[in-house]
Amino acid sequence: MTKRVGILGYPLGHSISPVFQQVAFDHYSMDVKYEAWETPSDRLKDVVDGLRHADFLGANVTIPHKEAVLTMMDEMENLAREIGAVNTIVNREGKLWGYNTDAQGFLRALRKDGEFDPWGKHVIILGAGGAARAVSVAILRVGARSITIFNRTLERAQKLASTLRLLNAEAYALSWRREGLKEAISRCDLVVNCTSMGMKHSPGEGGTPLEAAIIPRGIVIFDLVYNPIETPLLMEARKAGARPIGGLPMLVYQGAASFELWTGKKAPLDVMFASAKKALHNEKA
Ligand code: NAP
Repeated sequence: MTKRVGILGYPLGHSISPVFQQVAFDHYSMDVKYEAWETPSDRLKDVVDGLRHADFLGANVTIPHKEAVLTMMDEMENLAREIGAVNTIVNREGKLWGYNTDAQGFLRALRKDGEFDPWGKHVIILGAGGAARAVSVAILRVGARSITIFNRTLERAQKLASTLRLLNAEAYALSWRREGLKEAISRCDLVVNCTSMGMKHSPGEGGTPLEAAIIPRGIVIFDLVYNPIETPLLMEARKAGARPIGGLPMLVYQGAASFELWTGKKAPLDVMFASAKKALHNEKA
């Protein structure tokens, strides 16, 4: 009997998860179909409850449901609880387990693709949504020295900084002004863009949160945005002589971690990367 798994979000038009997850199941010749389940908020509870059926392995969860599904889980790993968001659901004999693999995907990309060790480092986070929360908690857990959050809506940055201080972090929230950004960036080791600025098909398409003139040479600039692969921010980082990391490796690593939770098998990273890149490339054409 074909097992089913899929991504829950709304809207889902441009998600490439179904493409690079399906090739992973096909790689092992598993009888599993990965589907796109576009789910408005008023249907979320019913759809999540349905995942308890033996046909389902579980689900990925994306914008805007990562926080809402938290209360619908039977069990949860500590990391997802700390972050306050679930991006992976595993159905274990009718019980739903909640995980957050964004944090793991981010750290793996940072270390492997950026060759960056966050221990003792000063970090700037741009944005204060779900991704910013996962990234901040992840980076704190591996010993970052301080986190400074800039967000268009200052109150959201303040709320995130307060949450991080409860985890004993040295955390600050600042309003998004060029002079403040310039000054803070001159003293940091890593900037992570967790806003959707620069993301294709979003209102921020074509935009960059920073220009080259205020990016110091040698720091690491990690852009979570993965579509386009080469974002306006990554171009500015290169111009400034900074070290750019794009969002695609994180996307594939978080998906690979989900695959391993559902199947217990090692994710075939090479085929997942190749198909994710192809999907983004084809979209361009
Ligand atoms: P979210 O919860 O909706 O948060 C969006 C953030 O972007 C908020 O801080 C928002 O600021 C800010 N923002 C949006 N448009 C902006 C603009 N024009 N100017 C300045 N700030 C703007 O979304 P999320 O889940 O955190 O995701 C954020 C981005 O990360 C998305 O592009 C998503 O695709 C990407 N992401 C990538 C991965 C990966 O694996 N590579 C994983 C997760 C997320 P306000 O608070 O002021 O609205």
